[in-house]
Amino acid sequence: MRLRLILVGAGHAHLEVIRLNSVMPLGNIEIYLISPSDYQYYSGMFSGYTEGLYDEDDIRINLRELTNKCGVNFIKKSASRVFPERKKLFCEDGAVYPFDLISFDLGSKSIPPEFVHSQVCSVKPNFQFVEQINEIRESSTPLVVGGGAAGCELALSIQAYKNNREIKGDVRIVTADKVLSSSSNKTSGKIKSLLERSGVQVWENERVSDIYDDYIETSFNNHIHHSGLLWLGGPIGEPIFQLSNLAVDEKGFAFITDALQFEKYSFMFGAGDCVTLRSYPNLDKSGVYAVRQGPILFENLHRYINNQPLQSYEPQKKALYILSTGGEKGLLLYGKFSHHSHQAWKLKNKIDTNFMKKYK
Ligand SMILES: Cc1cc2nc3c(=O)[nH]c(=O)nc-3n(C[C@H](O)[C@H](O)[C@H](O)COP(=O)(O)OP(=O)(O)OC[C@H]3O[C@@H](n4cnc5c(N)ncnc54)[C@H](O)[C@@H]3O)c2cc1C
Repeated sequence: MRLRLILVGAGHAHLEVIRLNSVMPLGNIEIYLISPSDYQYYSGMFSGYTEGLYDEDDIRINLRELTNKCGVNFIKKSASRVFPERKKLFCEDGAVYPFDLISFDLGSKSIPPEFVHSQVCSVKPNFQFVEQINEIRESSTPLVVGGGAAGCELALSIQAYKNNREIKGDVRIVTADKVLSSSSNKTSGKIKSLLERSGVQVWENERVSDIYDDYIETSFNNHIHHSGLLWLGGPIGEPIFQLSNLAVDEKGFAFITDALQFEKYSFMFGAGDCVTLRSYPNLDKSGVYAVRQGPILFENLHRYINNQPLQSYEPQKKALYILSTGGEKGLLLYGKFSHHSHQAWKLKNKIDTNFMKKYK
């Protein structure tokens, strides 16, 4: 009898598993991808789309085409719960899928439960991105909550879009710490001055305490006017693992081993933002790690099926990030090193377009 593998979510690592299956098929196994959308949108190019440098088709992968080409079945649904003991996956519409092996790469969400979703735009799940950003970039005073890499990038890109089209008003950004707080003071100062020079108003060390239709209240009782709110306050786990009584960290991400397996269930694998490696609990939630996990996940699925010892994944010590800062310029970050130029943006554009070509 053929084994059944279910891939839940079309995150970076699963895209690679699907692609590799067309090069060296996993064997006598039927593979299903479950995804709530026909497309996977690539966050590395969100800033370029926002600014107007890329079209929608440039930043998304057609999952029906990819799975069809690679011998994988596609199911357009959202998974809601897994019952490991019964080896069954439940979807939001009540459909149930039995499996022999399962892997999760379903990303994260970003809006904390205390705020009502209708008041806030979110770029997660990522297939909502284009609709949300198209609306917010046209509005007069959009407010970005969160001063991490994603928040800074999108604030700069929305401002660049407005500047290029002479749309009145400025972008605002509010962050509980300083901007790019995980980088050095020098880098954080650099991005702050780039934000301010482009016309973005920055509030640092202020937390959002309440959200109203056209303003927010901060922890210092400041009222900041907005015409739309984009929440990028850091990733939170999707509820599926908690609902399934699996071991999760304080943000709801499922714990996995270095072999990318769930701790209690060796037939369950995971990769990307939705999981936390027990050996590296503080690793950033970032696409660069999810990408590197792809080939290891594929190899380990292959080895598991063939009863061979599994490989360990070890995250790179330093990761390269290039933030698009508007006007085809990029801020390259590598450890303590940072560099701002057109060349940095060109490199980012090359890395991102090459990534997309692999799956088109
Ligand atoms: C604006 C922005 C810019 C960024 N830029 C970068 C960057 O330049 N470099 C970088 O390394 N990181 C970047 N990141 C972070 C990066 O987006 C994430 O770390 C990365 O996308 C995580 O990849 P993943 O493989 O975990 O899943 P994702 O890419 O998030 O994909 C998960 C998929 O699973 C689907 N899914 C969700 N729930 C379910 C469900 N219940 N059932 C089935 N499918 C489901 C989703 O719809 C989605 O298609 C950026 C983030 C943002 C917001």
